[in-house]
Amino acid sequence: MDLGIRGKRALVCAASKGLGRGCAEALAEAGVNLVLNARGEETLLQTAEELRVTYGVDVATVAADITTEGGRAETLEVASDVDILVTNAGGPPPGHWSDWYREDFIGAIDANMLTPIALMQSLLPRMMGQNWGRVVNITSQSVKAPIPQLGLSNAARTGLTGFVAGTARQVAPHGVTINNLLPGIHDTARADALDAAAAAEAGISVQEARTRREATIPARRYGTPAEFGRACAYLCSTHAGFIVGQNLLLDGGAISATL
Ligand code: NAP
Repeated sequence: MDLGIRGKRALVCAASKGLGRGCAEALAEAGVNLVLNARGEETLLQTAEELRVTYGVDVATVAADITTEGGRAETLEVASDVDILVTNAGGPPPGHWSDWYREDFIGAIDANMLTPIALMQSLLPRMMGQNWGRVVNITSQSVKAPIPQLGLSNAARTGLTGFVAGTARQVAPHGVTINNLLPGIHDTARADALDAAAAAEAGISVQEARTRREATIPARRYGTPAEFGRACAYLCSTHAGFIVGQNLLLDGGAISATL
């Protein structure tokens, strides 16, 4: 399917690896020129070069921490004219509800709620002015069904979801859509880290922890960054203009719910 976005420009945050890279790759495949961000320059430059060579699109890079004011300013200097914004950042660490203090919550809220909000506040006005834009926020299945050991993530991402629910309706009259993608377990470094934490807690091997987690998913496997990315590219496409303020769960059926 032609997604109708060839030649548009997108900022994909936290995109050198994992789900962000999956989104960048699917947008590149659709002919979208990219600004990619991540903290580590080496992997970022390598990813950018691979996408340039494979898809023939322009790829600019900004090596910066997107959760800091300075990192966002550096990124926006290069990406102030994008038509598409994909927000993403690393997730907060797992832990126990009794172990988190104010600073831990502030850190998680900064990274996973206030950062995407700040990026939207910067980029939405131009998108609205040209009467076309797309925003996709990478959140988590924890918004729909809390993951007890990820309380920081549950809290911060639910706040973002509330903000998006209202704001999406305010910008839709101007041809701009905002939607959230909620990943279940996907095969990335983040999933490996969570497998390792589960293995350490249960005193089992990392492979056994993965096998047990796969068994909880009706699809009996982890998702892939490539299929996640294609869902993102579809939400960014010209065909998705009537999808407004939605939360799309990609979890292989793990959360058992009618709606
Ligand atoms: P990942 O494989 O660890 O990749 C994270 C990417 O983000 C890397 O490119 C990393 O590069 C970059 N990054 C991390 N922190 C950053 C920051 N502060 N500023 C700029 N770039 C940053 O992680 P993932 O699995 O793709 O996860 C992406 C998001 O989805 C996370 O918030 C995660 O919690 C959420 N999620 C993932 C899953 C899953 O199963 N994978 C499930 C639910 C939710 P640098 O380290 O070089 O910056």
